[in-house]
Amino acid sequence: MSVLAAVMPAPRAKVEIREFDEPDLPAGGALLNTAFSEVCGTDVHLWHGRLSGVPYPIIPGHVTTGTLDKARGELRDVMGSVLREGDRLAFFDVHRTCGRCLACTVHRTPTRCPSRRVYGITDSATEGLFGGWSQKVYLEPGVIIAKLPDAVTFEAYIGGGCGLLTSVHIIERAQIRLGDTVVVQGAGAVGMSTAALARKAGAGQVIVIGAPADRLALAQEMGADHVIDIDRTVPEERLQHVLDLTGGLGADVVVEAAGSPRAFEEGLRMARNGGAYVIAGHYTNTGDSTLNVHEHINRKHLDIRGCWGSEVGHFLRALRALERHGDDVPWAKIGAATYGLGQLNEALATAEALKIPKALVDPWR
Ligand SMILES: [Zn+2]
Ligand SMILES: [Zn+2]
Repeated sequence: MSVLAAVMPAPRAKVEIREFDEPDLPAGGALLNTAFSEVCGTDVHLWHGRLSGVPYPIIPGHVTTGTLDKARGELRDVMGSVLREGDRLAFFDVHRTCGRCLACTVHRTPTRCPSRRVYGITDSATEGLFGGWSQKVYLEPGVIIAKLPDAVTFEAYIGGGCGLLTSVHIIERAQIRLGDTVVVQGAGAVGMSTAALARKAGAGQVIVIGAPADRLALAQEMGADHVIDIDRTVPEERLQHVLDLTGGLGADVVVEAAGSPRAFEEGLRMARNGGAYVIAGHYTNTGDSTLNVHEHINRKHLDIRGCWGSEVGHFLRALRALERHGDDVPWAKIGAATYGLGQLNEALATAEALKIPKALVDPWR
């Protein structure tokens, strides 16, 4: 049996459809029949060649969902249930985290484990079906698999996608307390899920800063109380707006999910004295920011926290959040359009132009 997959041969090269042999499964290995994968900002970075250590050619698509096609031997999900052919699954795209190195054990930062690999990003197509832009995905032994809860549709899971996992991690790093004012910089998939989860985590008010207008409207549906359009305001006006909404104090928590050095400079000024600033949007090197350490950090007693990647716990909590809050948070709406394998150059161009927050990939279309 052959499998069709979309391959990104090199940075800036056109994505092309290639035919792969279905792999011979080792004991504990499995094959996922893809329902949906996604095109996110990371895929645009991959296409631009902005991530280091990527073993092109790759099959992109890191967060992916579908049904169990086949498994060799008994396969269990992370909760311990035995999986059967046809079960609706999600899997954690990060694999081979070693659990033994300094990062994994002493520093307790498994997302910085040097052995860690990610489907669709750091796995080469020369090794097989390690990406979601493919009709089938090879789940190697040890990959963390979870059954999709009955209440969670494929569309809701993939609409949340990688951005939802990231935002679960952000919420953990942000340590939001009841009644906090949370500013989210960025109205992409990460910003929208962060707004939704900040609300569920007890924030008193959630302010999303971004553009364009239709994304801000969706951010409001997701849980933002106030939105500020960066296309219609200058930085001083945005800062004043946040101060006006916080009695002149600034926000308890600011989350950077914009990936811009200018956003970072702005966010520092929006946080209150003793507040927290979580940086999650700088997945690639976007250049230097300018700040006044005395004014923006030291005197302010500001707590700045980085947030890199996600862990198994974030994956599971994302599933629980989708199960519990899927009725009032429209995650499926983030996936604005669906593309087949032959349309992915178009999908990348659309994502690059920020026309839609996320494109879905249906490899059987
Ligand atoms: Zn490790
Ligand atoms: Zn992603």
